[in-house]
Amino acid sequence: MDSFDDNETNNMEKSVNVNQDRKVHLVGGGIASLASAAYFIRDGHISADQIYIYEELSIAGGSLDGSGSARNGYVMRGGRMLNFSYVCTYDLFSFIPSYTNTQITVLDEIKSFNEKVKTHAQARVVADGKIVDVSSMGFSAKDRLDLIEMMAVSEDHLGIKRIDEWFEPDFFKTNFWFMWDTMFAFQPWHSAVEFKRYLHRFIHEFIRINTLAGVDRTPYNQFDSLALPLIQWLKRQGVNFRMGVRVTDLDFNSSGDQQVVSRIHYIENGKHQDVALEENDLALVTIGSMTADSRLGSMSAAPKLETSKADGSWALWESIAKKSKEFGRPFVFDNRVDESKWESFTVTCQGHLFFKLMEEFSGNPAGTGGLVTFKDSNWLMSIVLAYQPHFIGQPEDVTVFWGYGLFPDQPGNFVKKKMSECTGAEIMTELVSHLKFDLVLDEIIKSSNCIPCMLPYITSQFLTRSKGDRPQVVPAVSKNLAFIGQFAEVPDDTVFTVEYSVRTAQMAVYELLQLDKKPTPMYRGDHDLAVLFDAAETMFG
Ligand SMILES: Cc1cc2nc3c(=O)[nH]c(=O)nc-3n(C[C@H](O)[C@H](O)[C@H](O)COP(=O)(O)OP(=O)(O)OC[C@H]3O[C@@H](n4cnc5c(N)ncnc54)[C@H](O)[C@@H]3O)c2cc1C
Repeated sequence: MDSFDDNETNNMEKSVNVNQDRKVHLVGGGIASLASAAYFIRDGHISADQIYIYEELSIAGGSLDGSGSARNGYVMRGGRMLNFSYVCTYDLFSFIPSYTNTQITVLDEIKSFNEKVKTHAQARVVADGKIVDVSSMGFSAKDRLDLIEMMAVSEDHLGIKRIDEWFEPDFFKTNFWFMWDTMFAFQPWHSAVEFKRYLHRFIHEFIRINTLAGVDRTPYNQFDSLALPLIQWLKRQGVNFRMGVRVTDLDFNSSGDQQVVSRIHYIENGKHQDVALEENDLALVTIGSMTADSRLGSMSAAPKLETSKADGSWALWESIAKKSKEFGRPFVFDNRVDESKWESFTVTCQGHLFFKLMEEFSGNPAGTGGLVTFKDSNWLMSIVLAYQPHFIGQPEDVTVFWGYGLFPDQPGNFVKKKMSECTGAEIMTELVSHLKFDLVLDEIIKSSNCIPCMLPYITSQFLTRSKGDRPQVVPAVSKNLAFIGQFAEVPDDTVFTVEYSVRTAQMAVYELLQLDKKPTPMYRGDHDLAVLFDAAETMFG
């Protein structure tokens, strides 16, 4: 063996020894932390029993949630669409066994499900109780030019511009806008930079945006299909899940320019406690959360809008941010609830009546239709009828669907109240009236349990921002700290996706451990001539 090989071997041994002693502290139990734990184990060879996940709720999964029962009503704060371009997410789930069949991976399960149940929306947009023809995007020549120019200019050029500061007012009446904004939840006042990133990142979906044929779905809701198998795998490896633990602050030791996390403060069972970090220990913190302070209503009560930052996520980032300007600016995202809130709802139906009517109306068996958006709804309401059963253990005579309204402070078209003030029964009345299923309104209401959910920060990650508002995943001043999740900066990638959080996990693990491994390369349809050609044809069609 020559001296180079000796050094290599010594370095490897050193790193194995360091990693054996290392503890990893993951703050937050969402997909960003769960994915980080998985990559620490698979690629970092960190012993799972040295990994600690601190989650203030009693259940892990974070925004990737799904819970409840047929009797009391199921709840999903969100419903998530996936895409083949989720290369980090698909990498992660290529080594996680499925929850329902451990002989196959979650990725295999997703692929075979999507082979079987293909999305091809036939009622993507509805107005006045009728299906709208959305075969054309409806662009004017000026809209096309604005879109092309937006894709060509730099993010610096767009700066803190809003989307509606770039496009003409009529752009927001095009078929494209109704489909794109309800698919990805953009509002006209959101960041032009984030909108530009979506144009690049999902340009390959232009040609099928009216049918949503490019959307991948999970067999069940995403808690059951993604979070649950991952949590189960991590537990089997020996990862420590510290539930009901709210992290309140981090202490740092400064050494030269570097900030080193030395202690984590937390509250458990009402008691303030802390844990000290040793020299090689690491801390990864999910900063901010789109589902922080979400509150549920019921068939007879509207959900409360909680703005006191009662959950720990924003408060923790605010405390950390005071310690270095490299740690980002949470106030940009958590202080503009009027610009970031909207409301979702989950409906548990006893029987199949609503599903049958919708299937007849749309021509789509449940699970194949994707989103149905009510274009003339003052709340800009959309619903999704997933393939049934949508929950593991869901009885056959129960059906579950999910929906949301992007303008919760507008009065309804039929129920003359703001959506945010409506009970579940009133939301159902508004929905059924848009569909003109009025004749069976009473029957539908009687057999439905609609649970509304107010989400004050749901689009906080889309708010206008400047450089530095989001910290780097591993800030330049950090030795043992990484920020993960939706509010850390990943060049070119798009927030409001599972993929973004998983990518931050890969970046954090590989960089903190100084592994000779790079995150999975991003799919770049915008660098592919064939994709660009198809997109141009759609734009000009
Ligand atoms: C309505 C909705 C629709 C969506 N649609 C899609 C979609 O179509 N496609 C898609 O890809 N993605 C979609 N998403 C986004 C996706 O679900 C999220 O991007 C992803 O789940 C975020 O994961 P995360 O781990 O980064 O953060 P989170 O899931 O927010 O996790 C953060 C976790 O940390 C915990 N926590 C925070 N602070 C503390 C603290 N101080 N102490 C202890 N615990 C703490 C929180 O309780 C939470 O559990 C949607 C989400 C929602 C809500």
